[in-house]
Parts: sequence; structure tokens; C-alpha cells
Amino acid sequence: MSIPALMPVYPRCGVRPVRGEHCHLISEDGRRYLDFASGIAVNALGHSHPGLIDAIQKQAQTLMHVSNLYGSPQGEDVARRLTELTFADTVFFTNSGAEAVECAIKTARAYHQSAGNIDRFELITFNNAFHGRTMATISASSQDKMHKGFLPLLPGFKYVEFNDLEAAKAAIGPKTAGFLVEPIQGEGGIRVATDEFLQGLRALCDEHDLMLVLDEVQSGVGRAGTFYAYEQYGIMPDILATAKGIGGGFPVGACLATEKAARGMIFGTHGSTYGGNPFAMAAIGAVLDVIPQDAFLADVRGKGERIKARLEQFIGNYPELFELVRGRGLFIGLKMKVEPRAFVAHMRDNHELLTVSAGDNVVRILPPLVIDDSHIDEFMEKLSAAAASYSPEGVN
Ligand SMILES: *Cc1c(COP(=O)(O)O)cnc(C)c1O
Repeated sequence: MSIPALMPVYPRCGVRPVRGEHCHLISEDGRRYLDFASGIAVNALGHSHPGLIDAIQKQAQTLMHVSNLYGSPQGEDVARRLTELTFADTVFFTNSGAEAVECAIKTARAYHQSAGNIDRFELITFNNAFHGRTMATISASSQDKMHKGFLPLLPGFKYVEFNDLEAAKAAIGPKTAGFLVEPIQGEGGIRVATDEFLQGLRALCDEHDLMLVLDEVQSGVGRAGTFYAYEQYGIMPDILATAKGIGGGFPVGACLATEKAARGMIFGTHGSTYGGNPFAMAAIGAVLDVIPQDAFLADVRGKGERIKARLEQFIGNYPELFELVRGRGLFIGLKMKVEPRAFVAHMRDNHELLTVSAGDNVVRILPPLVIDDSHIDEFMEKLSAAAASYSPEGVN
């Protein structure tokens, strides 16, 4: 047999982590990496956070799983906390980001269909978006490379240019159910929605009775410097998908909605065997104990500004390599003038610095939200050393 036991859908690199210590990862061969990837914006509290470990340990000793056949004091408590912290009135817990988006899509369709508008099923989504890897969520993502080999797609998605309000407006038709959009595109390359764009989508939704569905799977839970990124736009969504950072490393997600938006999500319409299980609720509870505090979020914004300022100064030394810095909070993109993957590999393999590449030639800088200034210093030292020792083909 030549196929690996782990289905070979990921081009895995040589780093094989076996232990995490705060903002560092230690690999099988004993090397110590500065982790500014955070498991792709997941380990918001870093590795081995005492509060998260304690919550999961206690829950493991008490009750791991019972299914949604029974009442859930743990789920009620976490859902209530999330509704108090956000626009939402009600929450459905999932096991991943794609499932949270999937639930958001179903909620938007059911909003219209439960009112008898069975033809209003189409969501307008945006170029370079990423919404997950299930059939519905790849159908919602405009990228051809995600579709190849998996046709036919689920009908009901129309793609238009991101940050182009006129195009979004022109795409509205009798089938439109709403917009599905990332306020800050993650995989697409830390592309930040303009105020005019998101506020304009909100206004179009109000005017045409459409659902504004935000995919904050990557931008949420403090990553962009506010609990959710939408808060920075002075608008509120109708439906929001969250995951990644919300479990701090435990696999869990959620679909949040207003009472009005959730009018179609009645008994029997949706479900998940594991969704909202006590284990996952303990993990979210530990994350909510830390991140949505004003002082914590202000600190994230401050650290983000300091990294961005230092990066902006630094890239001036390498005009042939770097183009610009963008992003909000600790959701930062370093746009390169060359393909970023080889540079990400160089930082990783030769300077023990972990980052993640993204679309539009961007290196994503996604540190744990709990970094301190010593980690910023360490990051800048490693990045400087990596740039100084880098010579991509075609760059002198
Ligand atoms: C990661 C991501 C998803 C998918 O989350 P999974 O947990 O991998 O299913 C969906 N939307 C956005 C914006 C993401 O970044």
C-alpha cells in the first residue's frame, strides 16, 4: 500500500510538535518555535493555558457527553454569556467553523422559507472568501481550486467583488436571501472590509429584508482587537458564525442569531450529536473568562499597533521583499512582493518562527492573544534575521 495512513490532503511540513508552552511549540526533535500561527488563529490563549486546562480537566472528571436529548445546564450558561456579549439572542453550538457557517446558511434560508418565500435561497458571497470545506461552504467560497473534483456545487450562491458595494447591490434579485461575508478576509489575505462596504451591506439588508450573515470564524473572539470584528463597524449582523479561537484549541464553533433571524430554526430543523457537549462548553467558558474583558481587548489592540508600527518601519529595509502591512488587532498581514510560501518555510526551518501564508502574497501573523512585548521583540529579531538571510529566485 502506498497511500499514507493519514489521508494525504495536506502538504505537511517537517515540524512535528509534541508540546506547547505558552507562545512556543516544541517539536519531536527538540527544536523550540515561536508560534505566531496559533494553529491558524485557534490558540488564542496560547498553549497550556492553566484556566483552559483546569476547565477541561474538571469537566472530564465530571461529565464528557450526554447528547442533545437532555437538558444542558452547561450549554445554557455559555449561550447566555454569548448573547450578553454580542448582538445575538440565541446560539447553536457546532464542532467546527464550517459547521457554524453551514448552520448560518440554513438559518438565513429558513428565515425566508419559513415565511413562505421558498424561492429566496440565494446568498451573495465575495471573491477570495473562505467559508470552510463542506459542500455548502465550498459552494459559498468563490475559489475554483476548492471546487475542482467536487462538482456539482450546491446551488444558491452568487459571487461578487469584495469591498464593492455597487456590485453587491446590483447582484440583489428576487432569489436573494442575504449576504455572507467575512468582515476581514483571513485565507484571502487579511483583506479588511471598508466601513462603507459593511455599513452599506447592512443598509441593503434593512431595505430589502435580507439577512446579513458574518463569517467571523477567524476574525472573531478578540483576534481583530474587539470581541467580534463587526463592533468596529458600528453595525450588527443578523447571523454570525464563530469557531477557531472560541475553544482556545478545543474543537467547537457556534452560530449566533437574533430572535428574528432564527424564526425558521424550530424543533427538528437542525441538530448535531456532539454540538454543545459539556466538554466543549467548559472550553468556551474558560476562553470567555479571559478574552471579552475590556482591558484584555485594549491590550490586544495595543500589541497589534506596536507590531504593525515595527513591521512598517522594518519593511522599509527590504523594499524588494515586502509591500505593505495591514490588518486589525493581532490579525495582521504582511504582503510580500514575492510568493510568500517559500519565505514562511524559511522563517520556520531556519529561524524557528511559525506564521501562515494566505492569498494575495500575504504572510499571516497570528500570535496567541496573550503574547507580551518580549514575544514581539523575539518575533522582530527572528523576522529580521530571516529577511537578512533570504534570497528568493528573482530577487537580488
Ligand atoms: C477556518 C475558517 C472556516 C472553517 O473552519 P473549520 O473549523 O476549518 O471548519 C470558515 N470560515 C473562515 C473565515 C475560516 O477562517
